[in-house]
Amino acid sequence: MPSFRAPRGTRDLLPAERAAFARLERIARDLAVRYGYREIETPLFEQAAVFERGIGAVTDVVEKELFRVTPSRGEERERWALRPEATAGICRAYVEHGMQTWPQPVRVSLAGPMFRYDRPQAGRYRQFWQWDVEAIGDPGPAVDAELVELGARFYRDAGLGDVEVRLNSIGDPACRPAYVEELGAYFGRHAGALPELERERLTTNPLRLLDSKEPAMAALVAAAPTMADRLCGPCAEHLAAVRAHLEALGIAYRLEPTLVRGLDYYTRTTFEYYRRGAEGQQQALGGGGRYDGLVELLGGKPTPGIGFALGFDRVVLALEALGAAGAADGGPIAVVVGANPTATAARLALATRLRDEGLAVRADLSARKLGRQLEGAVREGAHFAVILGDELADGAVQLRDLDAASQKLVAVDDLVALLRRKTRDA
Ligand code: AMP
Repeated sequence: MPSFRAPRGTRDLLPAERAAFARLERIARDLAVRYGYREIETPLFEQAAVFERGIGAVTDVVEKELFRVTPSRGEERERWALRPEATAGICRAYVEHGMQTWPQPVRVSLAGPMFRYDRPQAGRYRQFWQWDVEAIGDPGPAVDAELVELGARFYRDAGLGDVEVRLNSIGDPACRPAYVEELGAYFGRHAGALPELERERLTTNPLRLLDSKEPAMAALVAAAPTMADRLCGPCAEHLAAVRAHLEALGIAYRLEPTLVRGLDYYTRTTFEYYRRGAEGQQQALGGGGRYDGLVELLGGKPTPGIGFALGFDRVVLALEALGAAGAADGGPIAVVVGANPTATAARLALATRLRDEGLAVRADLSARKLGRQLEGAVREGAHFAVILGDELADGAVQLRDLDAASQKLVAVDDLVALLRRKTRDA
């Protein structure tokens, strides 16, 4: 038993898993560029008030899951918290840097770790990774559909072909308060049947009862009044237009009247991504929505915005379950080996020369027998072994194709072209 372990709810991403995450990051970065979103970084921690004000003090994320940090010394009397999500910090940065004077919308993207001090379980960690995309300063509805489509494309590119979009509108300050009141009255009539936690929420935030994780709530939630039937004119028009845009883009979606998302700041469009057949909040791969009041809550001018956050951890878990975690990532194309245990300088020199040409090559610097070195190269997933022997004096080496288990003598000068061709084929 080792004396130290990674903290509960966190884990080390060992190289194979890290490669699967890196692959998702590459897909996300590439998509962000193609869709015109530029990268931004915000600190991993913020004043806790950014989240309390922005996300809402009586949401799960702030009330139960905020990872608060107290400095052990210093004059700073601030209360800090590790970021549980990226949107509030990005909107804080939008206000702080006067981004409302930039061309609107400001389209930004961020991929990185988030922290929630929740009870850890499968697919739910205290440190996890998200890809976050925000379009701030655009009231939609077209950009809403663009983002929903972008998220759907991410899952397709990642290799999850069975991800479906669930869509809802949660109204705005014109129509939501009356609905929340009606919902409160509805659940109030069934207060006796509510689990204790849900009864407390009834007074603070009845909307949250709709995405309750309590099995006992399922039937009550299913029969609850829905926002979709009570949207004001402009919100109903907005939802209809988002749907029309999605249909024009050929994006299938399911209307989900109970999809309210856990955070206070959402208005109108909300959406989540699920693998087909998956039920329950726990299973959401990602989600997002419109937050037309958030920038103002954080001290800026009234500014509409919309964004999403797609979790990487659950995508990697899903890919692993499919046996397709992008494991081929990151290995060397070739390993330079040799039988002479004292000739490591020659192995290193040749590997360096091939790396100069941009190839991923490792030199085996051990004194192991040649057979063992070749086994090591196969285990690493290399396609070739470059075997140094006496022919080196004539400028030649044995090039062993590890996939085909064939071998031939080639001139060192031809190696680069041969390995390049293989890299392209792989
Ligand atoms: P949320 O903002 O809570 O809807 O989170 C968006 C996505 O981030 C979720 O759909 C998950 O994929 C991921 N996510 C959120 N919380 C966690 C967590 N504690 N552990 C792993 N992934 C998470």
